[in-house]
Amino acid sequence: MRFFIWKCAKKAIATRERLFSRSCAPNPTCPLCDAPSETVMHCLFFCHHASATWGLSDSLHSLPPENSSFGEWFFNLQDTYSNTQVCRIVCCLWSIWTARNTFVFEEKAPTPASSVIVSGRDFLLIEEARKTPSSSPLSRTTQSHSQPRGPRSNPLPPPIPFSRLMYCDGSFVSDSSLAAYGITIANAHGQVYDGKADSFLCSHPIQAEAFGLLNAILIAAHDTEPTCIRTDCQVLTLALRQDPSLWPWQCRATIARMVSVIHSAPWIKVEFVPRRLNSLADWVAGQARLNTLPVDWIVICNIIAPLL
Ligand SMILES: [Zn+2]
Repeated sequence: MRFFIWKCAKKAIATRERLFSRSCAPNPTCPLCDAPSETVMHCLFFCHHASATWGLSDSLHSLPPENSSFGEWFFNLQDTYSNTQVCRIVCCLWSIWTARNTFVFEEKAPTPASSVIVSGRDFLLIEEARKTPSSSPLSRTTQSHSQPRGPRSNPLPPPIPFSRLMYCDGSFVSDSSLAAYGITIANAHGQVYDGKADSFLCSHPIQAEAFGLLNAILIAAHDTEPTCIRTDCQVLTLALRQDPSLWPWQCRATIARMVSVIHSAPWIKVEFVPRRLNSLADWVAGQARLNTLPVDWIVICNIIAPLL
């Protein structure tokens, strides 16, 4: 949830306004209420579903001014609300966003009542984790609420415990056997500063995914910087933890190499992300397959920056 709040503050969640500005949506119109522009603030506070959810929830005293910035509003919350109340508000923001996404991706209409129930459930889970000392990621996240805050110039701490974050994806067309992978490399604040892409021939889509992931792992193994590599290929993330007899036969040698490299580079973590969160690497892979990107390190500032 901290990552989500950080993305909201950076206007980096995939609202229609953001997608439209990057030519990834036909218009900026709100998918729920047809408002002219689905901004972060519209989506989370002023869309009919969001405002009704806040109305039902007793977590927020009043909605923020419509033209305010999310980051500023969120930081100022801490002047008015206790840590527990802020946590409850964060849960509500998250449930509004997930309900909106359920509508967009699964066409299930959200109801404010269910969003309030979901946010209440999440809040209780976090409270429970906060009371129970453990090393779970959930408790690590919530512990930050009781820690002293830094200076105002940096109100949102880095959301991930890695100093480098990579996304990778493969692209494959069975007709031509033409394939490619795309890798984006970001710092701990999520800012993409580099990437890599390559095109090649293969015979199965998972080979393209595996080749991309192997290359990301090899990049991360060049130094000892703590790196999280994200892929939307769950078969591969599972395979890395499974017995070799269960590996997909199409890419066994590639997986064996990945396992070997990771074994000697314990600062690398590979995790699964849903495809919708991997859209930039997907785009890079697709462009590389079409030969519209250089088949070497990508100069992000020239090529990808307009899309970010
Ligand atoms: Zn709306």
